Amino acid sequence: MRTIIFIFLTLCSTLTLASIKSFKCYDVKHFNYVSINNSEIEAFPDYQCDDARRFDQLMEQVKSVSPINLYGVNLFLSKRKPKKGKNNLDFNHVRMGFNKDLPEVSKHVDAIFIHEVGHSIFHQYLLKEISYFSSLYDLDRKKDSLFNTLLERNSLLSDTGKCESPECIKWNVENSNIFSEIRKTKLEMEDWSKNNKKKVFILTRLAAPYHELFADIVAAAVLNDPEATSNALYDLLKVAIPCRSMKYSSECLNDTQGVHCLYSGVREAIWNSLISPALSNGDVKNAIEAVLLIIKGEIESELDNALENDDWIYNPDLYFKSFKSKIH
Ligand SMILES: [Zn+2]
Repeated sequence: MRTIIFIFLTLCSTLTLASIKSFKCYDVKHFNYVSINNSEIEAFPDYQCDDARRFDQLMEQVKSVSPINLYGVNLFLSKRKPKKGKNNLDFNHVRMGFNKDLPEVSKHVDAIFIHEVGHSIFHQYLLKEISYFSSLYDLDRKKDSLFNTLLERNSLLSDTGKCESPECIKWNVENSNIFSEIRKTKLEMEDWSKNNKKKVFILTRLAAPYHELFADIVAAAVLNDPEATSNALYDLLKVAIPCRSMKYSSECLNDTQGVHCLYSGVREAIWNSLISPALSNGDVKNAIEAVLLIIKGEIESELDNALENDDWIYNPDLYFKSFKSKIH
């Protein structure tokens, strides 16, 4: 459930993506491609396109409350334990694992999936809305488009991951530039990062606790359950983590779970004053946008402050107080 806001592509990671079998699943509306890796935990039954359907339905619900048009969230099913949901912002895909012979874990898998997609909403929103990062937003969209082209090739690979069918060989000839285009985009992103090191460093630090808080808010709002994430984690990990519940209240910073709980002291207030009323009056998208606007304002003003002051130091206690004062 961890994510890092900026991970730049390496050639090695691109080649990893190039060998994962992907499927054009025709009854799935919200993912361009579904990648499937059935080689991990052998005891779990193999996945097929049918298994993407539940995530497609959830994606529809998430998109209906997202204040931005999400691009490029694809699904990667790999046979891992359900607790290991992961949003790979580098490849724009959410990686999920579960044992479909155990339907009782399904609602927890739903919470984890929605949490991971919440990271994509947050990531894309910040890049799009904070002007310092608009060039990176454009590059990220370009990368997403190139990856979708690459996934088209992956859907033509053999079961052993080789490009040997006539269709795949023809595709290779027609799209011979794809790897150099990806490499070029990767270099552009790296250059941008090198030239904007301070901005990236500051944004990454400031955004990390908001990322986790926001992803939990989306899961709770979509499932209409303030304890969606905390209950999922309790059942899957057998550990109580109350600071992941939207019922959690505290006046203080809580860093027992690192960035996942650092700003948990606003959870109850956000649920009671914004999300719960919105669920009653059917206005969840506006409530989620209101949360994003507050967070964006907090990050932007601190980013401006940090860029103007060479002696800036990271002070989560101060930011938390400021953030909390904006929640009514
Ligand atoms: Zn997370």
